[in-house]
Amino acid sequence: MNPAFERAADERVNWIKNIPFLLVHLVPFAAFYTGVKRFDVLLCIALYLSRMFFITGGYHRYFSHRAYKMGRVMQFLMAFGGATAAQKGPLWWAGHHRHHHKYSDTPEDIHSPLKGFWWSHVGWIMCNKYNATELDAIKDFAKFPELRLLNRFHLVPPIMLGVACFLAGGWSALVTGFFLSTVLVYHGTFFINSLTHLFGRRRYVTTDTSRNSLILALVTLGEGWHNNHHYYQSTANQGFFWWEIDISYYVLRVLSFFGLVHDLRTPPEHVLEANRIRDGYIDIGMFQANWAKAVTSLESARHGASAYYEQRRRAVDELVESTRAAGIRISKMSIKAPADS
Ligand SMILES: [Zn+2]
Ligand SMILES: [Zn+2]
Repeated sequence: MNPAFERAADERVNWIKNIPFLLVHLVPFAAFYTGVKRFDVLLCIALYLSRMFFITGGYHRYFSHRAYKMGRVMQFLMAFGGATAAQKGPLWWAGHHRHHHKYSDTPEDIHSPLKGFWWSHVGWIMCNKYNATELDAIKDFAKFPELRLLNRFHLVPPIMLGVACFLAGGWSALVTGFFLSTVLVYHGTFFINSLTHLFGRRRYVTTDTSRNSLILALVTLGEGWHNNHHYYQSTANQGFFWWEIDISYYVLRVLSFFGLVHDLRTPPEHVLEANRIRDGYIDIGMFQANWAKAVTSLESARHGASAYYEQRRRAVDELVESTRAAGIRISKMSIKAPADS
């Protein structure tokens, strides 16, 4: 590991505290006992799609990037919807996300894949260091008392949703409809921090390793166009061209048609055409990342080389020592030998 990207002593996964989070991953296996009804599967799909929208359209594009506007009631509903995904409160989520954009793929970045894939995917969430909400980074929304309340009691919305699923369809609806979709939304969201910095193509020059991927855009309702997003962050759409499927943006367009949201920001034409890697601009983000990886390789080679020489030196020492001991035995024997004969 490149020393610059090595995790600090306080960046360790707290396994004990995360037992409930880990157990959530096991609950869907209870479907072998409860069985799975058609209703449960439909509920699972509906809760995946709706909650993924609240995360991408709400927590991400609105609360983190202010990519469009809406009234206070809608704002609260969007925050509440996001909170049902059990990914903590909107202020916590958006505050940490803003930090990611500020320090993308530098040693300061909380969840850069340069600190390791699993760390970027889920490890950083499971350590104590990032439990608190970064209120300084999210002052603009922290001024709303209802959002601070929701942020504090962030477990209430998912519990309410879980109870509603149980009342609607019993244990099997709770297990498959609620818990399975929750786990799928978790990892769909986590992919944005891990895979979208590793998998896909780069169109624009950015100082990070963000990439565009259709597959990830489908899984995450549009967040897979992550290179577009890092290049120009404040837009309601992350698919910049008509063929870049961005379902969250289509939903936002429908909501704006009904006047529920407004002022959706989109990238200006000159921004779309500028800073293209294919036009020969130096891809500084990948250059920096590859440089960091090269330093890692050199460090481990140097460490490996010194470990190898140390091992060889010890082997030679042992050989000399055993030869010397044998030599003493032989010389003793040879001294003794003439006397015996
Ligand atoms: Zn973002
Ligand atoms: Zn990113």
